[in-house]
Amino acid sequence: MTTVHQTSAEPSFRESVDMMFNRAVALMDLSPGLEEKIRVCNATYTVRFGVRLRGAIHTFTGYRSVHSEHMEPVKGGIRFAPSVHQDEVEALASLMTFKCALVEAPFGGSKGGLRIDPNEWEPHELEQITRRFAYELIKRDLINPAQNVPAPDMGTGEREMAWIADQYKRMNTTDINGAACVTGKPINAGGIQGRTEATGRGVQYALREFFRYEEDKAAAGLTGTLKGKRVIVQGLGNVGYHAAKFLAQEDGALITGIIERDGALHNEAGLDVEAVHSWIKKHGGISGYPDATHQADGALLLEQECDILIPAALEGVINLSNADRIKAPLIIEAANGPVTAGADEILRDKGCVIIPDMYANAGGVTVSYFEWVKNLSHIRFGRMQRRAEEARHQLLVDELQRLDRYLGSDWSMSKDFKEKYLRGADELELVRSGLDDTMRAAYQSMRKVWHERDDVTDLRTAAFIVSISKVAMSYQAKGL
Ligand code: NAD
Repeated sequence: MTTVHQTSAEPSFRESVDMMFNRAVALMDLSPGLEEKIRVCNATYTVRFGVRLRGAIHTFTGYRSVHSEHMEPVKGGIRFAPSVHQDEVEALASLMTFKCALVEAPFGGSKGGLRIDPNEWEPHELEQITRRFAYELIKRDLINPAQNVPAPDMGTGEREMAWIADQYKRMNTTDINGAACVTGKPINAGGIQGRTEATGRGVQYALREFFRYEEDKAAAGLTGTLKGKRVIVQGLGNVGYHAAKFLAQEDGALITGIIERDGALHNEAGLDVEAVHSWIKKHGGISGYPDATHQADGALLLEQECDILIPAALEGVINLSNADRIKAPLIIEAANGPVTAGADEILRDKGCVIIPDMYANAGGVTVSYFEWVKNLSHIRFGRMQRRAEEARHQLLVDELQRLDRYLGSDWSMSKDFKEKYLRGADELELVRSGLDDTMRAAYQSMRKVWHERDDVTDLRTAAFIVSISKVAMSYQAKGL
């Protein structure tokens, strides 16, 4: 069983985020009033509702927290987990504000949570519970295409988003933009290609960008490319699975460790991510998986030697109790808040480079932004341009071939090049291109602050400085 070991000296998740925020604002020149305005969470709505299931009324507790409305709608996922509580939802909402600002998604920050173990309920029961929770939020405009747009998070996915969208449409039958009330929907319910993979894909793009800079790799004591790098991933859910799969299949990284709820798998020669994923789906956990050594207390594998550690499950897993034993020179925070403020300090002192959550897992909200735009424009990306682009490329190919015949040379285009060049970009390619561009631009804005300012020694502080500046400018423009 993988437990999160923490000492009592550890601050709460929200306090931890505040401490990291404070570290950054101490290096900025903001008026104290504005600093406080940006730090605090604007509002948290708590709802308790009953649903009749299995012959009895069951009461559930849910939250929707709005951290900052400097831009609207506000945006942030809905989490289904038994551990959900107000402090966590507020911390996550605050991270959403800074994440959106960093990647220039035009949203304020929000987050929601329902205290529930989704594994305890049948799909039809979960649907009833989700629709009821959505009803409570919709009637208070806490789900609304113009004001508050949720997305998936831990314990939720396409299915839940489709239920929420449908619930909104039932309650707002004349809202032509109803589909934009939530993102992360299935394609046939107004979703966008590439949203499910987006957060993991973003982690891959973030690492690729990091590995483009010799100076940045040197800070972590790394060299070369992602090929052959030993990677340990915690959590093979939506984010962890996609990140691990793409890094292994497309960049040649070796996934040497996978940590899940029921323990960890380790194999220095590299694990087959697809096989482990299928095993978990079939058996409900990693236990019994062949071709790897099994460790009962999975959290211990966080301390194993590797080149890159990807915590992609839950918050607070690297904390005061284990930070000094972490050996990875590079940590990329695919989960939100996996490293506590105290652990962050210990790791920085050890020279470990941390690619912070607000950047590392921003792929999800970036593609959610594309989905929201798609829903509001009521047209699939590429629909108008694709064939026109192909026709233009065909013109060029025809002309080159005509010239070739005219000159009588034996030059010819390779079939592979011709096929690739002639094919116009479809929605998935456009989404990936937009995501890649976003991840590169955001990384560059962070690393500029990291390298150009002597008083900034880590990427997290740099990320906070970039995003807080943007939020501050937005408030100032409004006259606050
Ligand atoms: P998920 O529910 O799909 O996956 C979480 C995985 O972690 C599951 O496989 C679960 O079994 C595993 N897990 C749970 N407890 C564990 C433990 N103690 N030790 C090891 N593994 C454990 O969730 P997800 O959507 O992949 O989200 C994971 C993290 O990424 C969360 O912090 C979430 O806030 C963050 N995130 C998700 C998205 C998104 O688009 N889904 C976007 C941004 C950030």
